[in-house]
Amino acid sequence: MIFSESFDVIVVGGGHAGTEAALAAARMGQKTLLLSHNIETLGQMSCNPSIGGIGKGHLVKEVDALGGAMAAAADEAGIQFRILNSSKGPAVRATRAQADRVLYRQAIRRRLENQPNLWLFQQAVDDLMLEGERITGVVTQLGIKFSARAVVLTAGTFLGGLAHVGSSNFQAGRAGDPPAISLAIRLREMKLPAGRLKTGTPPRIDGRTVDYSVMTEQLSDAPMPVFSFMGSAAQHPRQLPCWITHTNSRTHDIIRGGLDRSPLFTGVIEGVGPRYCPSIEDKVVRFSAKESHQIFLEPEGLSTHEIYPNGISTSLPFDLQIELVRSIKGMEKAHITRPGYAIEYDYFDPRGLKSSLETKMIEGLFFAGQINGTTGYEEAAAQGLLAGINAALKTLDRDAWCPRRDEAYLGVLVDDLITRGVTEPYRMFTSRAEYRLQLREDNADLRLTEMGRRLGVVDDARWSVFETKREAIVREQGRLKAIWLGPKTNSSALSEADILRVLGKTIERDYSLSELLRRPGVSYANLMSLPGAGDAVADPLVAEQVEIQARYHGYIERQKDEVARTAHYEEIRLPQDLDYATVRGLSTEAQQKLNQHKPETAGQAARISGITPATISLLLVHVKRGF
Ligand code: FAD
Repeated sequence: MIFSESFDVIVVGGGHAGTEAALAAARMGQKTLLLSHNIETLGQMSCNPSIGGIGKGHLVKEVDALGGAMAAAADEAGIQFRILNSSKGPAVRATRAQADRVLYRQAIRRRLENQPNLWLFQQAVDDLMLEGERITGVVTQLGIKFSARAVVLTAGTFLGGLAHVGSSNFQAGRAGDPPAISLAIRLREMKLPAGRLKTGTPPRIDGRTVDYSVMTEQLSDAPMPVFSFMGSAAQHPRQLPCWITHTNSRTHDIIRGGLDRSPLFTGVIEGVGPRYCPSIEDKVVRFSAKESHQIFLEPEGLSTHEIYPNGISTSLPFDLQIELVRSIKGMEKAHITRPGYAIEYDYFDPRGLKSSLETKMIEGLFFAGQINGTTGYEEAAAQGLLAGINAALKTLDRDAWCPRRDEAYLGVLVDDLITRGVTEPYRMFTSRAEYRLQLREDNADLRLTEMGRRLGVVDDARWSVFETKREAIVREQGRLKAIWLGPKTNSSALSEADILRVLGKTIERDYSLSELLRRPGVSYANLMSLPGAGDAVADPLVAEQVEIQARYHGYIERQKDEVARTAHYEEIRLPQDLDYATVRGLSTEAQQKLNQHKPETAGQAARISGITPATISLLLVHVKRGF
């Protein structure tokens, strides 16, 4: 059956990538259909109930700055909020929220159901419709044909999903959900370059069977962090603590004794797992000298006793899971409510994507999320948002958009994926960004909201809040430049004691407040306590920006110079039909790599492993000659 209406954009999959993609395309005014296995699981967190963390929190703020849903949903669902790395510099500070699973799903679903231009439909997608090398729609399990000009595929861990517990395995998208087998077969038939990856999750515990009195309590930070630039701590529900305990030598002995029954070590699991989120059996083998590993017991929500023991992801047989859990301090009587498991699934080599996340092989088909070899809700949401924007732009006949590496972690993520590919599930870290002083959580709105407005994903309410903030920052910076204080100031009663208190040393001449704020150890609040400094701004986010921008002014300017030096490479476009074998002087290796990757710009080419500066010079000569 052919569905009577056609759509501009169809999004397949209602996980973190799919929901952001559908919301973004609909915000841009395009008629959008979100097709997913089950409407009840829209926005479902497959693994740990938490959002954010180092690098990941940066992505969440960027998604928010572009009008996305993840940060706002985390504010409504978060039951423990922390700023990680709070004692370090602003570039690496990151927000993390423990979320109530049910509240999070509800917050996402409410947004989807109330988004104009967005239609929801519950069905598995089994096939894609093509005309030559162009997508025209999808076919569902019931044989319903939906047509669209662009399709975003966000199938997560579902393509050919195979779950493992010890030697048992079963087909699944994740525990309790069906896999996408027909679609996986169809995609492989299309010869899109595919591989297998793996991820895992710990057993869940009934919190009533845990002895918290022997564990360390971890509360939310005060003042309470907020995720969305539009959010407030007043939106957060009741807060709960997390608890810390550790594995011990007995736990490790149990694990070592069971490795011959671990699908990971007997070779049953072929897919590569996430290096930075390893299973407990992996950790015990790889770090054999370590006597214990930390475990965070995280509540799954306000309306359940279930606990997520972060740190003991495992695919060991269930009898060993009970033994290992009960060997841990405070968990001697723990009851497991759901066994831990590992899952293997198909992913597609992201080097087959353009920076818009459109596949190079099939026009109008976009991939986002775990399907591209990433791991994590935040990485998925960021890609989903970008793919949704670009799918909408495509149907509007507008140019695609992707932020550069110096503009956003989203740019770093996509550039890493499409130029380097993945050998293991990719997760974001601040260390992946070379310009991280510029790419802070606190300035994600200043970096991206204006572009979001131009693209059509930022609504009037957000734009108005943003403009008010941006103007207040500029106004306050101007005021600080205009006020001069110091020993020679006649107009104020600035004493040497005041100067010493705020600056830590005396000064010989007058300085502007702006200059004083750049001095090490001077905070905005302290500066404002000086007589003659005038009234401080009321909005703490404005004060924070003024302080950070002043303090890191020199470093940020240096980074901007560095960016400017290489920026022209990003502007030099390389034709997609260029045969690199025809470029004079290129080594065979360079020819092969460039022909395989087909980079969009000289900048992208320079970041492909094995492509040297000499190769880029030859390419530039070729481009200048006009081929
Ligand atoms: P998903 O959240 O998987 O969503 C996919 C959506 O697509 C689902 O709604 C599904 O129903 C739908 N779908 C799929 N195929 C079809 C189809 N053919 N037709 C219709 N709908 C379809 N991340 C971490 O960061 N750390 C971890 O430790 C971690 N462990 C994990 C452990 C397990 C067992 C699992 C399953 C996931 C784990 N993850 C982990 C990964 C995390 O869940 C994903 O990164 C994230 O959910 C990816 O988002 P996504 O939107 O790409 O896909």
